Amino acid sequence: MSTSTNLPGSNWSQHHDYRATTLHRPTTLEQLQDVVANAPKIRALGSRHSFNDIADSAELVTLEGMPPAIVIDAESETVSFSAGLRYGDLGIVLQREGWGLRNLASLPHISVAGAVATGTHGSGDRNGTLSRAVSGIVLVTASGALRSITPADPEFDGAVVSLGALGVVTRITLDIEPTFQVRQDVYTGLTWTKLLDSYEKIVSRAYSVSVFTDWAGESVGTVWLKSRMDGAKPPQDLFGATPAHTALHPLPDMPATSTTEQRGIPGAWIDRLPHFKLGFTPSNGDELQTEYIVPRRHAVDAITAVRALGERITPHLYVTELRTMAADSLWLSGAYETDAVGIHFTWKKDPAAVLPLLPVIEEALAPFDARPHWGKLFHSVRKELYPRLPDFVALAEELDPEGKFRNEYLERHVF
Ligand SMILES: Cc1cc2nc3c(=O)[nH]c(=O)nc-3n(C[C@H](O)[C@H](O)[C@H](O)COP(=O)(O)OP(=O)(O)OC[C@H]3O[C@@H](n4cnc5c(N)ncnc54)[C@H](O)[C@@H]3O)c2cc1C
Repeated sequence: MSTSTNLPGSNWSQHHDYRATTLHRPTTLEQLQDVVANAPKIRALGSRHSFNDIADSAELVTLEGMPPAIVIDAESETVSFSAGLRYGDLGIVLQREGWGLRNLASLPHISVAGAVATGTHGSGDRNGTLSRAVSGIVLVTASGALRSITPADPEFDGAVVSLGALGVVTRITLDIEPTFQVRQDVYTGLTWTKLLDSYEKIVSRAYSVSVFTDWAGESVGTVWLKSRMDGAKPPQDLFGATPAHTALHPLPDMPATSTTEQRGIPGAWIDRLPHFKLGFTPSNGDELQTEYIVPRRHAVDAITAVRALGERITPHLYVTELRTMAADSLWLSGAYETDAVGIHFTWKKDPAAVLPLLPVIEEALAPFDARPHWGKLFHSVRKELYPRLPDFVALAEELDPEGKFRNEYLERHVF
């Protein structure tokens, strides 16, 4: 059976043109296995939201044409589905059936496989990265054979945040829980002094907390609290900051039409945990992104070090977002064996100005063991910060002895 092909074009931010000359679009598992087995060099393409060349190869394959095949197992509280599904599409079905996912990223537009492969995360000091919700994957390996990997397998912790290096993930199983309601409150008026003095108290004040800033001035920006309706109520006064009465966009001067409902109005997890609604352009659309993930014990020092670079950063920035995530055991996760804080930058789309800043920020964050987000722009990876990297390389060599899934990005940063 044949599979349709065409040119892949560009990533979401349209600043990386995929070098691949073929994009395969199989509609059955057998077609996918054939495509992988017969390609000399190939990688899976998710929803294209990464900002670098992580997904690129001579040939690419998308799972967009595969049936979703969503199977909810109420007894084990898991859902399995075709890995190319977007969180937004999966979430609609889960919510309809009375289930929820513990956490989401800022947008529901991204594919689960692509998000999980790069260690994508939301916020919440007791919430792990999205990869931590994975309880099973099925891979099409280099030969086209299937390999199922579960938490009982010793390689599981290496196979989830895979950077696409181990094969094409065709099915994913995620942990789920009964659906829950969330309210979202956005606070203004927090000062830098209060944030730095009371950082731990502020970021643990709700189920999920995001701090937005442009690093300039004495006032931080906004603080977004997502509170479960079955948990603690959000405060009226958050260290001097108060809830906004109008809906806001995380980026300054953008209309709030694309953002999820705020002002404390309760709604389902799928409609509150992301900042942006499916069906609208998330964020700005004309942008670049970078993020460094730092052990939580260094949070205040790391934020202070970046703030010292504020005058150089602010002119090129739309906004920074600070989020927390709980430790996990996934070998290439930014939160590997440490609670962590993500220091994120949504940049104006000016690579000539932004790219030279990245080594400067990395140098400032070097004392704090910062790991870059695999799917965003960064300068270099410090391999010594990934103690299980040699095990990951050995696993990749075992599953892909010919290097079919290796690309320039992996040669540069991993192998
Ligand atoms: C507007 C915007 C907001 C964002 N917000 C957040 C956020 O809140 N938190 C955060 O952490 N990140 C965020 N990101 C980054 C984004 O989550 C990551 O870049 C993520 O990897 C994107 O998923 P994707 O499906 O688009 O992957 P792609 O960019 O298409 O691919 C990423 C990697 O996944 C691999 N991959 C994809 N599918 C498969 C598969 N089936 N099998 C094996 N490997 C596969 C690819 O080969 C590649 O290596 C944001 C990005 C944008 C554009």
